[in-house]
Amino acid sequence: MLGRLARRLRMLGYDILYQRDIDDGGLLRLAMREDRIILTRDTRLAMRKAAIGRTFLISSEDPVKQVKEITQAFPALSCVPVRCTICNGALKPVEDRQSVLGQVPEHVFHSASGFFKCPNCGHIYWEGSHMEHFKGELLSIRASGEEEED
Ligand SMILES: [Zn+2]
Repeated sequence: MLGRLARRLRMLGYDILYQRDIDDGGLLRLAMREDRIILTRDTRLAMRKAAIGRTFLISSEDPVKQVKEITQAFPALSCVPVRCTICNGALKPVEDRQSVLGQVPEHVFHSASGFFKCPNCGHIYWEGSHMEHFKGELLSIRASGEEEED
C-alpha cells in the first residue's frame, strides 16, 4: 500500500525499508533492532505500547500529501540520488564515466554531470531526467503548504 511512497522517499535520500509480509510484532522488533521509525497508516499498530516513539502515523491517503507529512516531520531532503529506489542500497558515485557507457541512454551519457551506481542491484542513476519530474512535484508540495498557512 505504501510502496509508492517508499520509492519517493528513497529518491529524497531517506533510508527506507519496505516490508509487506511482516506482522506487527516482527515490524516492531525490526524497528528496535535497526533503530528505525515505522511509517504506517495502521492506527492500531501506532497505538500499541511498544510502538510509542517508534511509529509515525500517516494521516493522508494522498501520496503527495503523505510525502509532505513525512518531509515536515523528518527534514532530510537531498536532490542528488542517495538511495536506490529499487532495493534501498546506498548509491556510490561512479568514478569512471566510461564504465556506464551502454548502460544509460546515449544522450544521458553525454549530458549528465555524474553517475551513481547501486552496489546491490547495479542500477545506474544520474542527476537529471528521472529526478526532474520529482523535483517539480516537490516544489508543488512546498507551494501548496505555503498556501495553507496563510
Ligand atoms: Zn539497488
